[in-house]
Amino acid sequence: MKRALSKKLDTAWSKRIRQYGQCEACNKTKPLHAHHFHGRRCFSVRWDLNNGFCLCAGCHVYSNKFSAHITPSEFTFWAIEQRGQEWYDDLTLKKNTPQKFTDADYDLIYASIWEV
Ligand SMILES: [Zn+2]
Repeated sequence: MKRALSKKLDTAWSKRIRQYGQCEACNKTKPLHAHHFHGRRCFSVRWDLNNGFCLCAGCHVYSNKFSAHITPSEFTFWAIEQRGQEWYDDLTLKKNTPQKFTDADYDLIYASIWEV
């Protein structure tokens, strides 16, 4: 049950992030990926829209010059430049605050993904 809910949330989160419609780094419009700034293992921010970046495949995983997964330090620097230190601090604090979700929480998270 929980695993199914988690998958449903992953799909919704990814779709919502990609609705941005273009790569936030280079403005390409496809193929688009949803990147977790703090990795998916960090459940407290796994479905937080503030933890998502809409990136093209290159800026997400392939480019040796700049991509979230190959040049993570450069990516982090860029991300903070884009969204601000406060965004980074708030998100990182939330990431470091362990959270246990109840089924009711999952429903609230799902609703929050779509209400923005
Ligand atoms: Zn890009």
